[in-house]
Amino acid sequence: MFCSKCGAQLEDSARFCDKCGNPMNGVPVSQNTVKEKIPDTEVVLRVKPEFNFLYSNMGSIIAAVMVIVMTLLMSFAVGFVAFGTGLFIAGIIMVFAIIGSFFRKAQINNMRYDFYRTKIEYSDSFLNKAEKEVKYKHIRETVLSRGIFERLFGFGSVILYTNAESGLGNGIVISCLKNSEQVYKQIKDLLNND
Ligand SMILES: [Zn+2]
Repeated sequence: MFCSKCGAQLEDSARFCDKCGNPMNGVPVSQNTVKEKIPDTEVVLRVKPEFNFLYSNMGSIIAAVMVIVMTLLMSFAVGFVAFGTGLFIAGIIMVFAIIGSFFRKAQINNMRYDFYRTKIEYSDSFLNKAEKEVKYKHIRETVLSRGIFERLFGFGSVILYTNAESGLGNGIVISCLKNSEQVYKQIKDLLNND
C-alpha cells in the first residue's frame, strides 16, 4: 500500500502514514469514530510536524542579510574590505544554518504525536527517543498559536497545557504544523469527547 498524500510505501494494515501522518482508508477523526468507544490501543489521530528550510532558518537569514547591508554601508566610509568581510561572515552564518538544518530535519522527521481515545503518546526529540504519554484528563487547555513567521510560511503550533499531576511543567508544544487549524479542531474534538 502507498500513501495517497506523499507516496511512501506502507504496511497494508497501516492506519496512518509513518512519513506524513495521513490517515489511510479515509478515516479521519470524527465525533462518530470516538463515540464508538474504540479500544485505547488504536491511534485515532496522528499529527506530524513538517520541516521547512526557510522557516527554520529565518533568524540566520535575517542576520546574514543585515550583516551584508551594514558592511555595504560601512564600505562607503572605510573601503571595500568591510563589505568583503561582511560577505564572509554572512557565508559562515549560512554554513552553520545549513549544517543545523540537517539535525533539525532529522529531529522533525522523528516527531510524532499519536492521539488515542483517552491519551496522547508522543516522541518529540531526536536524541531522547523515549516515548512519552499524557492522559487527556491531565490536559487543561488546548491553544492554537500562529506567530507572524508561522503565518508567513503557513505554519502554526498547537499547545496542550497540562496540569501539575501530569509531571510536565509547560505542557506539550506541537510546532511546524502545516494544517494547524484543522489539527487544532481535531484535537479539541477528541479531548472534548472523552
Ligand atoms: Zn504519507
